[in-house]
Amino acid sequence: MAHKTQQLGCGYCIIETVNPSDLVLVWRITEVCDLACPFCAYSRDLRRPRAAANPDDVLRFGALLGEYARAYRRNILVSWLGGEPLLWKPLLDLSHTFKHAFGLRVSVTTNGTALDSEPVRRRIVEAIVMDGHAILITPP
Ligand code: SF4
Repeated sequence: MAHKTQQLGCGYCIIETVNPSDLVLVWRITEVCDLACPFCAYSRDLRRPRAAANPDDVLRFGALLGEYARAYRRNILVSWLGGEPLLWKPLLDLSHTFKHAFGLRVSVTTNGTALDSEPVRRRIVEAIVMDGHAILITPP
């Protein structure tokens, strides 16, 4: 059965309602990137301000999302987007908290450059991978 999809949000996040019980929140957590794709507004070669989320704000909002998910029996997937989300230092610790303390599902869209690191890969498995659709690698 096809589900109606509705999108809300500002320039930094998109809230997508996939079906009545699932909520997908796409969160542009940083505008920093280590690659220079010529079509992209976040290319490292462009001189521009680079916004990044405040970790305390992210933690507070995650706690609220977890409360909302429990109260209204919603499945919530928080999907990190950049720039390159894995360059944002608090990402893996916060993802771990989102998953294990707040009961949220977490995914990340990455260009893959950080995946050379075995410790990063291990932390991604602990903090993010679940349900078989946790990490999306977009080739530059
Ligand atoms: S890797 Fe992604 S965010 Fe970075 S420049 Fe390429 S398309 Fe943009």
